[in-house]
Amino acid sequence: MPFSLYTLIEASFPADRRRIAIEVPDRSRGRTSWTYGELASAAARASTLLGNLGLEKGDRVAVQVEKSPEALILYLGCLRGGFVFLPMNTAYRPDEVDYLVGNAEPAAIVCDPTRDAEMRDIAARHGTRHVLTLDPEGNGSFAEEAAKVLEARPVAACVSNDLAAILYTSGTTGKPKGAMLSHGNLAANGIALRDSWRFTDEDILLHALPIFHAHGLFVACHCALLSGARMIWLGRFDRAEVLRQLPRATVFMGVPTFYVRLLDGGDFDAGVVSHMRLFTSGSAPLLAETFEEFKARTGKAILERYGMTETGMNTSNPYDGERRAGTVGFPLPDVELRVTGDDGRELPQGDVGGLEVRGPNVFGGYWRMPEKTAEEFAEGGWFRTGDVAKIDADGYVHLVGRAKDLIISGGFNVYPKEIETLIDEMPEVDESAIVGVPHRDFGEAGVAVVVLRRGQTLDEATLIGRLKSVIANYKVPKHAFFVETLPRNTMGKVQKNLLRETYADACR
Ligand code: AMP
Repeated sequence: MPFSLYTLIEASFPADRRRIAIEVPDRSRGRTSWTYGELASAAARASTLLGNLGLEKGDRVAVQVEKSPEALILYLGCLRGGFVFLPMNTAYRPDEVDYLVGNAEPAAIVCDPTRDAEMRDIAARHGTRHVLTLDPEGNGSFAEEAAKVLEARPVAACVSNDLAAILYTSGTTGKPKGAMLSHGNLAANGIALRDSWRFTDEDILLHALPIFHAHGLFVACHCALLSGARMIWLGRFDRAEVLRQLPRATVFMGVPTFYVRLLDGGDFDAGVVSHMRLFTSGSAPLLAETFEEFKARTGKAILERYGMTETGMNTSNPYDGERRAGTVGFPLPDVELRVTGDDGRELPQGDVGGLEVRGPNVFGGYWRMPEKTAEEFAEGGWFRTGDVAKIDADGYVHLVGRAKDLIISGGFNVYPKEIETLIDEMPEVDESAIVGVPHRDFGEAGVAVVVLRRGQTLDEATLIGRLKSVIANYKVPKHAFFVETLPRNTMGKVQKNLLRETYADACR
């Protein structure tokens, strides 16, 4: 059956296409709003430009740009043309981008003009034919070339299983894996969220999330675009700007850090948000105390939901009914969940085990990693999330830990193995372990515990400085501690739980 997410999105636009789709109040120069009609023609120009450059259906377009409406237009243009959108975290350093480009082999890269030269080197190394630029104000060769397009190509003929996007996510191996998301995956999840959270064209979503991640790009934008709502876009979370814009909004979506920061000042109270319809939280655990404080201060219950890059959203607290602190609610429509034991069998309700998910939202696998894909799926199409959970007697899902030792710092994932490998490569180092500890602002942060080779010296500042030059800042451990040996169990595994206890107060 032919199916394109782009066609679905355009069919959901309001009948009156003069209505505003997106506005950017914090932009100093350039265009500050787009109607739905303008969004559709800009997406048509973007997809036509890529087609005119010779891109074909299924070709990847790797994108490392600051957040802007033009970046969203590029995404819509890719969907429209049947190209595969591949967003990259803006914090990624050249080595990290080089790996992704080598793995995904995109036909085109769009980057910030300040990165043009380094991106051309990377493109040349991996046979990428085109490098275009786009700055935060919407200028650059991508916009210039798109503006010249006169006649639009038609929407590409796609089917539900065709790839729409690849989002890279690291794993226990430390090497990022490209999660392949289809038009059908994204559409199913977008519709489930739009309907569960009751989005309409009367809504105004205050959007302060990054758009290189599933939360800001898919969860937020699809809810708005699939209901014809308006979005107010902020380049990033800025507390003062969020407070300035909230009076005009009806919905706000955040990672827990946003809520901690909003509560961090007496000026955030019921008066500021009394008109708001919905606050959602996800990507990392929302502490029960943050939920309670928000409720006490504003009278509103934050709606917490849970998902991941590979699956989109899996669960949500109810729109009507009790939103329970410390839980991520119930499975979304058409999403099945089960909790399994070490032997892979489903556990009785209430027991703690590995959380598995199945449904139209679940991705097709990791790009060019069939073995890795096979490892992560159990028989019957169940995807092993790597999260440890239990489902209580009322059906609420509680996440109790992460099997894969993932650290989530300010909403971003940090995979210990990736950082440990870099530290272990330092000539002075024998071995290392990275563990997540509570951090007041980021929720969680990594600290490094390092064993030096005999006779070697290395200090904390040097170690951290070296890491800062090769990996994104959010991945760099906040502290490094030097020890004689790492604690190990009888199987030889490093006992990270002991390290977490020892360094629990390092970042408070
Ligand atoms: P990502 O692929 O970046 O979206 O990260 C997915 C991981 O984030 C999940 O596997 C969970 O471990 C974690 N996560 C997402 N939402 C929540 C939540 N509401 N509470 C706790 N952890 C969450």
